[in-house]
Amino acid sequence: VAQSEEGKTYQIGTDVTFAPFEFQRDGKYVGIDLDLLAAIAKDQNFKYELKPLGFNAALQGVQSNQLDGMIAGMSITDTRKQTFDFSDPYYESGVVMAIGQDDNTIKSYEDLRGKRVAVKTGTEGYNFANSIKDKYGFTLVPFDDSAQMYEEVVIGNSAACFEDFPVIAFGIQQGMKLKVVTEKEKGSPYGFAVNKGQNQELLQKFNAGLKNIKASGEYDQIVSNYLGNTK
Ligand code: GLN
Repeated sequence: VAQSEEGKTYQIGTDVTFAPFEFQRDGKYVGIDLDLLAAIAKDQNFKYELKPLGFNAALQGVQSNQLDGMIAGMSITDTRKQTFDFSDPYYESGVVMAIGQDDNTIKSYEDLRGKRVAVKTGTEGYNFANSIKDKYGFTLVPFDDSAQMYEEVVIGNSAACFEDFPVIAFGIQQGMKLKVVTEKEKGSPYGFAVNKGQNQELLQKFNAGLKNIKASGEYDQIVSNYLGNTK
């Protein structure tokens, strides 16, 4: 007997280190994405289990139907729309280059020639770096999570990394030893995603809940809990 929709516990994938959207604090996963999900689930009365698998693993989990959905600062792109269905956008983002805090040699993409550039597998930062690497003559060094990618640049093994600007801005504000010296690239906003054609009721609940928590002020409260007035 198929379980009723009411009784279903959705399996939701997320990233591991992507502050302020998802990260560990005192051994617990917290962040804007996770608080939004919790508030929306409460509003729409559904149950879920959170699976902090990392970004690329979450993408694969949704595509193989091992996960019902994912919330992981995931950009709504045209390419992804071929394989995922997205919720309404819930946060503006895009990609930016970050370099070591004390590095005065890199002022533009031209200065990356012959250098190593750290990227995170499966991300828009990776795709962007990949799209310009031949033009500017640098090599990609892929990592599974953002923490490892930043560390690679902080210790000077790679000259730069490409990451979402709200995430880099938050990290730098928290004392991460990186800086931004170039303009941000045009990007796409974040959305909650399900496998294309699957879990449409979950997607509808997410959209309905998002609308409600925006109207009630809860959305703004969650964002300002993490970003204060820096938004
Ligand atoms: N927004 C980026 C993307 O969708 C990065 C997401 C992430 O690293 N969690 O590719």
